[in-house]
Amino acid sequence: MSETKVIIGLEVHIQLTNLNTKLFCGCNSDYRGKEQNTLVCPICLGLPGSLPVLNEKAIEFATRLALALNCKINEEFWFFRKNYFYPDLPKAFQISQYNKAGGKAFGDGGTIKIRLDGEKKEINLDRIHLEEDPAKLVHKGSIASSPYTLVDYNRSGISLIEIVSQPVMKSPEEAREFLNQLKSIIQYTEIADLNLEGSVRVDANISIEGNPRSEVKNINSFKEVERALKWEIQRQRNAIKRGKELIQETRHWDDKRRITIGLRTKEFEKDYRYFPEQDLVPINIDGKYVENIKKNLPEMPDQRMKRIQEQYGLSEFDSEILVLDKNIADFFEEGVKEIEVLGQEGFKLFCNWLMGDISRWLNENNKNINETQLQPHQISKLIEYIDKGKITGKIAKSFINDMMKGIPVEEILEKTGKQRIADEKTLSKIIDDVFQENPEIVKDYKRNPRALEALIGKCMQKTRGQADPNITRNLILEKIK
Ligand SMILES: [Zn+2]
Repeated sequence: MSETKVIIGLEVHIQLTNLNTKLFCGCNSDYRGKEQNTLVCPICLGLPGSLPVLNEKAIEFATRLALALNCKINEEFWFFRKNYFYPDLPKAFQISQYNKAGGKAFGDGGTIKIRLDGEKKEINLDRIHLEEDPAKLVHKGSIASSPYTLVDYNRSGISLIEIVSQPVMKSPEEAREFLNQLKSIIQYTEIADLNLEGSVRVDANISIEGNPRSEVKNINSFKEVERALKWEIQRQRNAIKRGKELIQETRHWDDKRRITIGLRTKEFEKDYRYFPEQDLVPINIDGKYVENIKKNLPEMPDQRMKRIQEQYGLSEFDSEILVLDKNIADFFEEGVKEIEVLGQEGFKLFCNWLMGDISRWLNENNKNINETQLQPHQISKLIEYIDKGKITGKIAKSFINDMMKGIPVEEILEKTGKQRIADEKTLSKIIDDVFQENPEIVKDYKRNPRALEALIGKCMQKTRGQADPNITRNLILEKIK
């Protein structure tokens, strides 16, 4: 099978978790961990006679995101009813926006810049729009085999923003980068905390060029998207290879079994019988309002990247990775205030520690930097100690676990008693011992110069990482002759 072209489009639903109330009623929107069906009122339960009232703050948040994504904001629009019959929708319709039949999205167009394998690319958006979240359905076991379904209306009416990309992504990796950048932008606009469980849902449209597409629904985390896409692409390729005809259908991502399952053939838009929501007045957003929000918009990752590059003399690549997580970038800017002594070199060292050992620790422990006790000044101290020759880089690395608990570097140093050994006499003695204990490695060096690394490693082991690597290297080279 030669490389057939893959076409991917994403519809990303984001809960505006930083809003206090729901989209069309005053119910508390902080529903996580609350007793089921307690944060409800006649409006979000869809009781007859109840009337929705728009949450003005939701318009502000949507405006912030539209500005950050460079969408063209539609200054006048109606909400629409999207009709479908399902237990998560007590009204049997969802209040949403519609960009046809005289309707408009909240914002049209827009772009997200990504970088993959060193290449930059702009992913164009189709639109963003506001809508309400349906209630939460709780299945016992898997959706396919559950004997019953429970409904929690606490989630009913929560504000969602849907971000629809154009079908222009060519690989699951591109989709992953797109989502990483989107997550970053949302973090900077301060409209949502996407680390909260259930705050993100992604539907992915996937096709192999020239074939019908399938829509994979309800992928519940950004991490799952790449996996679901890879699986679905393989399924479609296999079907084509076997001469099976693909159909346009909706599939469900089963994150336990990690496969997609055909649910139903795709509804067509006309099945939703969209029509204007007459219970809400048309929305007018004037230019002044938008200007005002624009003025107060926090610095976005793109701007921050450029500023950090100039201010601290970091490379474009370093700055780009640094700003991706706002918390990491804040940590960096806080920490380097104390490292002025080393100047530019200090900034780069600080960045290296953050991007290297610290990020690795966070990944391995599945934590956000704010969920640890690590303080910016600890990293500055660490760099200072290495610079002054008190400890080696190797010793510094062994401090990280303790530093994450907030223990000051001075204390760790005292507790472990570890310090850099630079005294040539001491090192010389250690090297003699290592030579004596490992005659075969010493012999091997004649044929294989890389045996040198093994000898340095042995010295490190013997000194619990305290030997200065450069002095040790030079001494070994002198002796081995
Ligand atoms: Zn309510």
